[in-house]
Amino acid sequence: MRDLMQDWPLRVSTIIDHAAKYHPKRAIISRDVDGTIRRSDWAGIRHGALRVAQALQRLGIRPGDTVGVMAWNTARHLQIWYGVSGAGAVLHTLNPRLFAEQLVYIINHAEDRILMVDPDLLPVIERIAPQLPRIERVIVLADRAAMPRTTLPEVLSHEELLAGADGDFAWVPVDERDACGICYTSGTTGRPKGVVYTHRSNVLHALAANSADMIGLSSCDVVMPVVPLFHANGWALAYSAPMAGAGMIMPGRDLTPAALHEMLEMGATVTAAVPTIWLAMLQHLRAGGLRFSTLKRVIIGGSSCPRAVIEAFQRDYGVQVIHAWGMTETSPLGTAATFTPEIAALDEEGRLDAQTSVGHPPFTVDLKIVDDAGAEQPWDGRTQGRLMIRGPGVVRRYLKGEADAADAEGWFDTGDIATIDANGYVRITDRSKDLIKSGGEWISSIELENWAVAHPQVAEAAAIGVAHPKWGERPVLVVVPVPGTSPSREEILALVAKHVAKWQVPDDVIFMEELPHTATGKISKLDLRRRLAEMNYALSA
Ligand code: ADP
Repeated sequence: MRDLMQDWPLRVSTIIDHAAKYHPKRAIISRDVDGTIRRSDWAGIRHGALRVAQALQRLGIRPGDTVGVMAWNTARHLQIWYGVSGAGAVLHTLNPRLFAEQLVYIINHAEDRILMVDPDLLPVIERIAPQLPRIERVIVLADRAAMPRTTLPEVLSHEELLAGADGDFAWVPVDERDACGICYTSGTTGRPKGVVYTHRSNVLHALAANSADMIGLSSCDVVMPVVPLFHANGWALAYSAPMAGAGMIMPGRDLTPAALHEMLEMGATVTAAVPTIWLAMLQHLRAGGLRFSTLKRVIIGGSSCPRAVIEAFQRDYGVQVIHAWGMTETSPLGTAATFTPEIAALDEEGRLDAQTSVGHPPFTVDLKIVDDAGAEQPWDGRTQGRLMIRGPGVVRRYLKGEADAADAEGWFDTGDIATIDANGYVRITDRSKDLIKSGGEWISSIELENWAVAHPQVAEAAAIGVAHPKWGERPVLVVVPVPGTSPSREEILALVAKHVAKWQVPDDVIFMEELPHTATGKISKLDLRRRLAEMNYALSA
């Protein structure tokens, strides 16, 4: 009786086929790099993707070859997304904000043969081109007439690439376990590491992302990914939206709050980005007395979302926040703070508390917390441990890695420190490398930061451990004031002291005009510690 059901390979081309067949007219609105608004639909995106796949094959791209793409969120990028993997090739998304030497490293390490790049990002490639011996061709995502001048040889416009490709093409039937895309971690410590998603992992992950307790997209949604497609698999929205038959709004490269608000007002019901984008958006809304007319849900992740942001979206603007946690290595969604019945039954404060955690995992994600010896820790909401994760969307081995990144049972160490409570809700307290240890006890830097930004004049805050003669380390807050304000050290510390134990209150507040950030928009504590060392900053007993 074994094996009597169909073996239907889980390829990402089946996602775009489904969207184009059953939801062909769903609108895809896109702002081009030159500012023009273009309208398409899933049938059009699929046709464009078939043309890209056909043209790449004509250029000599074969199954398993790697194509690097450095582009903003546009409809054209969606066509390339499906075109590259539909040709059986591997889509390597490139973050233009990486340092030049990191870009050189990852393009060579992934053995990209072709680079596809938005016209405004061409200078990034021009600067490093001499160090990219394997690149055979650069394709600029522009029409022939709009091609920027370039010193590079072997450059084609997107229009020239597609000339003569009519879309009469069949997706290359790769194995579902073949590589589909590569995304490198930003490598804040050491070299960036390549995570190679398979077709199967992307399809299963998108199905899980679309479950009701995660992001739960439907054909009635219009999704606007502000998170770039090149960051952590684009939070998989380019898979989960067409899978659900949702429409999409692609905001292009202008990520100022005014431009994003304008794009959201074209009918978005769901959007997604890191907290800093939303902090700026809230300021913009308040300053201009603006509102959202269609937006219902906002997915916030990548860094811890402050309670004040969740509260403002829900109370002042009627938009539900889904606070999510994930990483490049986990495709990326691991958990989301949606309500189980136990949480739904709480009062507003209780529900808000639950939303400052990162919630619970979907089917296909398994989690545990362990101590340094690997012993599993209790789900009491207090005991902190290293967060471990396994599942079909979790990395097993990095690209060209010599050993598995996960243990024999599949557990991958996230590098995050977390608690899990009796309801199974996960709370991230720190990155293990950013832990503050005072008098032998751990203090959560994330908690201190989130209470500090609750002060209306604090734009951004970072808590770091500074050496202390008596306690080993003590927490210190580094604060960026909202422009034009000057909050006092005492006020900020008094606010934090209302919410944390006395011994956890930072010893000092340092004011800076800005904080150093990584290429994915996270505060770089490594650089911040360096900066304090350069200032000869020290605490005394
Ligand atoms: P990078 O390349 O910057 O490491 P990732 O997206 O892979 O990009 O970063 C994953 C890390 O981001 C997680 O391990 C965690 O530390 C942090 N992170 C993501 N979402 C959250 C969240 N909601 N709360 C706290 N930390 C988060």
